[in-house]
Amino acid sequence: MAAQTEESDCAREQTKAEQDVDQVRQRAARDQQRLDSGAITSPKDLENLQREIASLAKRQGDLEDVVLEVMERRESAQERVAELTERVGSVQAKIDDATARRDAAFESLDGEAASVTKEREVIAGSVPADLLKLYDKLREQQGGIGAAKLYQRTCQGCRQELAITELSEIRAAAPDTVVRCENCRRILVRTSESGL
Ligand SMILES: [Zn+2]
Repeated sequence: MAAQTEESDCAREQTKAEQDVDQVRQRAARDQQRLDSGAITSPKDLENLQREIASLAKRQGDLEDVVLEVMERRESAQERVAELTERVGSVQAKIDDATARRDAAFESLDGEAASVTKEREVIAGSVPADLLKLYDKLREQQGGIGAAKLYQRTCQGCRQELAITELSEIRAAAPDTVVRCENCRRILVRTSESGL
């Protein structure tokens, strides 16, 4: 944006400088016509006119230098605009690419979530109602995890090692008894790696 502003500022400056050159050129041409017409006869007037024509030529040269200088600045501003426009294009392409990949990831996650939800429904349907109620209550209380694996005498929900007395109680419990962690109250899932 700054480069574009600079470019249009230069364009305005160039137009103004070219108009200045034109004005001086027209005035010099008028003076020259008067001189050539032979209408002016007084030597003093002729001298003044010649002096003015010379001074206008000098002024025109100076103004043309200004035009050239502005044109050079404008050219480099145009180059900068072109370069930055290209960079904007390449960054935009990266954004578009990342957006497309993000959208694809969302879509795949949505699909996964739908299939996991369906799976959960099937499993939940096979769990006794009172146990499911307990599990859902614990899940709500314990940050989304209502049941944890008992792994090497440690509750994987709260990472606390179980006391020896608790372990012997669990060891003695029937396989279908619902056992709970003494510390976090989560349902403990016994496996062959529970260390019982
Ligand atoms: Zn625990």
